[in-house]
Amino acid sequence: MNMAERHTGNWRIFRPWIERALCARCNLCFLACPEGCIRLEEKGYPLIDYLYCKGCLICEEVCPRVGAVLKGREENGLEPELSFEAGRLAVETGIWPLKEAIRGKVEHTHRPKLLPVEEYLSPQRRFRHLFLPARQNDVIEEIQAEVDAYWKQAGFDPQAVREKTSSNGHPSRIPA
Ligand code: SF4
Ligand code: SF4
Repeated sequence: MNMAERHTGNWRIFRPWIERALCARCNLCFLACPEGCIRLEEKGYPLIDYLYCKGCLICEEVCPRVGAVLKGREENGLEPELSFEAGRLAVETGIWPLKEAIRGKVEHTHRPKLLPVEEYLSPQRRFRHLFLPARQNDVIEEIQAEVDAYWKQAGFDPQAVREKTSSNGHPSRIPA
């Protein structure tokens, strides 16, 4: 599961942007972006491809210049009170794998419960079109199949994991 296989920009809750007047053109954000979606234009300023920027804000984290990477909420993002829960569900549904490079080897650092992807999608207004006015079963199943395929190739058996775990709660309802 990587940006070549899906438009990771759909995951974004926060949108970063570069304030050129404050940018030192140090390239750190370019090097650190996990999606490889920052490129450098001819003068060396970073440009973000929002089709793939997933809003992790690592670019802001590594930037040595205060204010050079600004952020704002996506207009169709998540209700503010749900943002912590959305992060948990992104991980526990397996949509957002947690990985770390240890001595050159990339490893998963968390075994997700592999809750149904719907639990992550349905509370969020930006995915409202998948549920209203009619549930888009084919699209939701396709997303679930992609997530399952990813974890299978990583050595997990999604069905077995799901049988062992159950959701800690029900997804919040989509705001009317
Ligand atoms: S928020 Fe920044 S680091 Fe994260 S994907 Fe977007 S551009 Fe890359
Ligand atoms: S890390 Fe900050 S200062 Fe460096 S290129 Fe990126 S935005 Fe500019």
